[in-house]
Amino acid sequence: MSDVTSNAQVQPTGVRTPLRGDSEGASLCPVCGQRPLRGAQTVCSPRCRVSRSRQRREQARQVRDRAILEHVEAIRRLVEGEGAR
Ligand SMILES: [Zn+2]
Repeated sequence: MSDVTSNAQVQPTGVRTPLRGDSEGASLCPVCGQRPLRGAQTVCSPRCRVSRSRQRREQARQVRDRAILEHVEAIRRLVEGEGAR
């Protein structure tokens, strides 16, 4: 007297079941984009971790460089504006 059969009927056909639990919804490594992350990992391997930190550092440097350039431009405009008078 159980409803197991009706439960099985609800399952749609042709749907591939994930290999294990949430693995289908798990996010891939943002660095190589190929291997899924496990648990609290943010990258799949130490190598990806190193390259990610390098990427981040370069990105941060680029952002900072741009900010500095903008400051320099602003200062130059100020100075030129004052000097032109
Ligand atoms: Zn990776």
